[in-house]
Parts: sequence; structure tokens; C-alpha cells
Amino acid sequence: MSISQPPTPCPPHRRAAIVSIGDELITGQVLDTNSAYLASRLVEASILPVEHITVPDDDAALAATLVRLARATDLILCSGGIGPTPDDPTREALAIALGEDLVTDEPTRAALAERCASRGRPLTPLTLLQALRPRSAAMLPNTAGTAPGLFARLRPDAPAPGADVFCLPGPPMEVHAMFNLSVAPALRPVLRGGFATRLVRIVGLGESDAAAKLGPILARDRNPLVGITASGGVLTCRIRAQTPPDATSDSVHSELDRTEASIRAALPDHVLDGPPPGADRSIAPTLEESIIHALARRAETLACAESCTGGLLSEILTRVPGCSAAMVGSWVTYSNTMKESQLGVSRTLLESHGAVSDPAARAMAVGALDRSGARHALAITGIAGPDGGTPDKPVGTVHIALASRAADPATPPIVDARRLALSGPRQEIRLRAAANALALLHFRMRGLDPGRGRLSMEAACQPTAVARA
Ligand code: AMP
Ligand code: MG
Repeated sequence: MSISQPPTPCPPHRRAAIVSIGDELITGQVLDTNSAYLASRLVEASILPVEHITVPDDDAALAATLVRLARATDLILCSGGIGPTPDDPTREALAIALGEDLVTDEPTRAALAERCASRGRPLTPLTLLQALRPRSAAMLPNTAGTAPGLFARLRPDAPAPGADVFCLPGPPMEVHAMFNLSVAPALRPVLRGGFATRLVRIVGLGESDAAAKLGPILARDRNPLVGITASGGVLTCRIRAQTPPDATSDSVHSELDRTEASIRAALPDHVLDGPPPGADRSIAPTLEESIIHALARRAETLACAESCTGGLLSEILTRVPGCSAAMVGSWVTYSNTMKESQLGVSRTLLESHGAVSDPAARAMAVGALDRSGARHALAITGIAGPDGGTPDKPVGTVHIALASRAADPATPPIVDARRLALSGPRQEIRLRAAANALALLHFRMRGLDPGRGRLSMEAACQPTAVARA
């Protein structure tokens, strides 16, 4: 099956809209991940999404949305609602929008019949619904599932060119496969006068502090335009360069380079490394990737000792393929007994300072360092809530510590610890604790002395120094 070529003229895909279809998305029962995926793939292809919309399983509402978007955009990517059940509205809605009836696509009917026969299943009328298409539409093969997708040129105001409409299934894996197979090759970006993007990640700073330091770089009338988003304790600067019609790829990239350099100059300690030479520069490494890659480059290793994060820090680090080059292992020591038996934290210390304390975090880090043989050890102990807070140590109080082996084995390890005052629900506190611990290691690897590179959520308190446990 192949996409029949849409009627001429074929204008470029300058403006795109993304439509998510399903009652479960409208009600918030299922998170819409397809829109984010499709938008990022369009941006990669230099096509700017101008609208995302979620519509319920209602064919009339979807048909009206498609007609409206076909007047305002050149490309519409839909996902969901294309299966064989009566609540799947996409096929019918596309037919209404096109003003066409539904016909059986013979090759699809034959393929469905063969599939049912090979599995010893009857070919039911519901299964056969998936072979229907609006008369002028083409079927898109589904290599990851059963329901084929649909492609049509929707021209509500012909002879105006209207928009190309791709209707993809709902399951994310099927969306990815169909996008790669049928949508990506059919995209027609504007080769000149489009835009290019770059991401720069920042740790150890809150949004307002970062914004104050970046100043005019964030001006909304600037090109390239820079925006900031925050997620899980990490900030991302999103740089977008609008390219004039006469721009070359090199000139656009040097604009992006200049803006990235200004961000790095404004926040020298906080900006993470970019992608390695030769890699796609529109995708920035995550905090965990940046840490693992930096450790691996330096041939250094890391161990973790976690209490309130219960292994989350280790889970985040081990998401990175190849992390075994740097990650040696972890302890999850929730109780005092485990902190004592597994990490050698002294009972006296735990009784006098408490398990959520600067000395406990330091002793956990040093214990993990000694027992793992790693070059660095990170420790986290805190109160993630919602219960367990006290006036002295409210929910969100988290102590993090980093112990690093000194070059001379006779010298005691270098230990740096911070008290964080985090807010938000339990999972957010745990995530920010893990991100701030990684930020501490980022500062250490940048060679910044422990007094510098203050973390975003650091509480104003003087940490108590303790001797090696
Ligand atoms: P459908 O094709 O509408 O029957 O959807 C099939 C499956 O894909 C269901 O489990 C949906 O919840 C899921 N799904 C549909 N749309 C999306 C979306 N935008 N993001 C993530 N999952 C989705
Ligand atoms: Mg659905």
C-alpha cells in the first residue's frame, strides 16, 4: 500500500496542527504522549506545530475540528479513534469532513481476512470496519498493530489547497512506527525561511534566578528566541531561531551557537555539557546522561546510598545506556539499623543528630565510598512526606552529601553536604532530591569548590562538619 499523491498544487508544510482523539484523554484518565511525540518529530523536520487540540470520541466534533484546521494549516496529524469499536470516530469524521462516503479498501479487506484465517479467527463485521476508508483517502500500513491509518487531502475551500491529513492509531508504539514509515517521508518542510532549535540544560538554579541572570537573552522580541521550562529539578533553555529566506544552514547554526554561548557565559557553573561532537545538537543530554558521560570520560565511578528516594537516584542513573562504565552500585538503607549495618553510620551519630541530618548524610556518603571502592558516593536522606515533618525538620527537608576520594589515598575524602528545603508532593520531593544530588556531583566534576554553585532549593543553614565515620 502506498500513499496516493495528493492533487496538485502541493504547498509546503509550513504550519501543522496535532489532534488527539479520545474521551480518555479529555477526561485526563490517559496522558496524551502522542502529541508530544508528534510535535517533537515535526520540529525535528523543521515544521512548526501551531496548535494542539484534544477532541472527544465524537465524529461531528472531530469533523468540524478537521475542517477548521484545514483552513488554518497545511498539515494535520491525528492520533487515536481509528480502531474497530463503535466509540472510534476518526474514519467517519474524516468522511464527513471530506463530504464523501466510506468504501471498502479491497487490499486491506484481503489482508484482514488472511490475518484472521491464519489465527483461526472469524472475520467479523467489526474487524471489517478497519478496511473502510473515505473514497479519496489512502490507507497507511500499520506494522505494529492491526488498524491501518488514513491519509487524505482535505480542501474545504477548494481550489485553496487545504491540508494534508494523516490519521494514525492511538497506541504510542503504533504511532511511532507509522510516523516513521508513512508520515516522515511525506513531509514537505519549508527548506528556507523555516526554523531550527537547540536545547541547553541548567542545574542548581530556580527559574527566577536563572531568568535574572539571563536578562535580555530572554527578551520575547529576540531572534533566536529563548524560553525556559522547569521539570524535575532541571531547567531547559529552548532556543528557537527563525531563519530568514536567504539563510543557509551554517548561518542559522552560528546564530544558535552565539545564543548558546551567551547562556553559557551568563551561567557558567550551571549549564550542562552539550551533545558530543557530531551528534544532533537539537537534542540535549539529560542530567543523568551528562553525569554518566562525564564520569565515563574521566574514568571515574559512582556509588549511591539512598534513604527517602528509595533507589530513585539509582533508577535515574541506570536509565542511561552504558551506565555500567561509571555506576558501581547502590544501597537503599531506609531504617537506622540498615544505615548502621550496611554503611557503617554510627548509632551514636544517628541518635544524637537523627537520620535526617547533615552528619547522617555525610556518614552515609563516606560509608558508601569506603564499601564500594568508587571514586564518588552520593547520599540522600530526608522527609518526603506527606507525614513525618516536625517544626525543625518540615516535610521537604532533605540532606544530600557527596564524598569523593582524594588523589592521595592517605588523605581523607572530600565531603560536601547540603540541606535542601523542597516543596511539593512526595514524588516531586524525591525527584528534586535526586536531581540536586546529581547537581552536587556536576559542580564537583567542574572543579568548583564546595562553597560555590549553590543549589536552587538549598536551605539557609550552616552545615555541621563531622569527622570521618
Ligand atoms: P484508540 O486508537 O483511540 O482506541 O486508542 C488505543 C490506545 O491508545 C488506548 O489505550 C489509548 O488510551 C491510547 N492512546 C490514544 N491516544 C493517545 C495519546 N494521544 N497518547 C497516549 N496514548 C493514547
Ligand atoms: Mg479511542
